[in-house]
Amino acid sequence: MTDVTITRRSALLGAAALPLVASALPANTAQAAAPMMGVDNTPFARFKLGEFEVTTLLAGAAVREEPHKIFGLNVDDTTFDKAAEDAFIPNDMARFFFTPTVVNTGSSLVLFDTGLPGDTPGVVSALAGAGYTPDQVDTVVLTHMHPDHIGGMMTGGKPTFPNASYVIGDTEYNFWKGKDNRIGKMMDGMVVPIEDKAKFIKPGDEVTGGITAVEAFGHTPGHMTFQLESGGQNLMLMADAANHYVFSLAHPDWEVSFDADKAAAAATRRRLLTMLAEERMPFVGYHMPFPALGYVEKRGEGFHYVPASYQLEM
Ligand SMILES: [Zn+2]
Repeated sequence: MTDVTITRRSALLGAAALPLVASALPANTAQAAAPMMGVDNTPFARFKLGEFEVTTLLAGAAVREEPHKIFGLNVDDTTFDKAAEDAFIPNDMARFFFTPTVVNTGSSLVLFDTGLPGDTPGVVSALAGAGYTPDQVDTVVLTHMHPDHIGGMMTGGKPTFPNASYVIGDTEYNFWKGKDNRIGKMMDGMVVPIEDKAKFIKPGDEVTGGITAVEAFGHTPGHMTFQLESGGQNLMLMADAANHYVFSLAHPDWEVSFDADKAAAAATRRRLLTMLAEERMPFVGYHMPFPALGYVEKRGEGFHYVPASYQLEM
């Protein structure tokens, strides 16, 4: 460069040379780099619903590739990719969360679902983070029998929640019991051993005051969600009736690989989402981005997820 006039380009080149100068300074002026920690979430979030305290527990999270092989089996790639792009999420991978919920009604501690299995199940670690021990859990409610919901029932062959009684859907239990498949076998190890401590219920039955089972068949034959009501406030524990905050809400009729009866699951999803939107009722979605709490807004032919902010923290 022969031209000594300071141009924008030469000014930028000058700036680029600065790090060389900095690296020539004595090493003791630099701090050691902090370690990279990896993607993480807080393990629990607690909020109020009337007189209840509700805590969502992050028992695990995982990235899965090719979400179009899970959601939208009945639509083409272009439609799927457009839905992902519209929502600012990738079309080739999705992050799933596993979120049991524990409710303190004031007289009992009720845990909904138990997450994945493990030497120390994720639900136990998350409970500890939230300030609870497994022996404080009075009741364990199972929404359905998929392994990511019943996996924490037993630890080392013993009940993880030693003082708990159990509430289980009658239809769901009877459908899987004795089945010679993955779920039947998982249930043999995780649920059948506590059968004599379980109460078997139907949709419409109460778990305890203010907690009612709601029919949500389709994802599995006896899948149920649970409506909480305290002090005039309501919240739905949606379990797996809607499993993705975009694909399940914007496109409730999309077929989902995990749904046993795809048409029934879609009808259930639309019915519950319509009710949540009309009632402006918050919900917790078991597989939704942590803390898994949000609202449903009607949008076009489908719905839109509105993550909760501080509505239930006052
Ligand atoms: Zn699930």
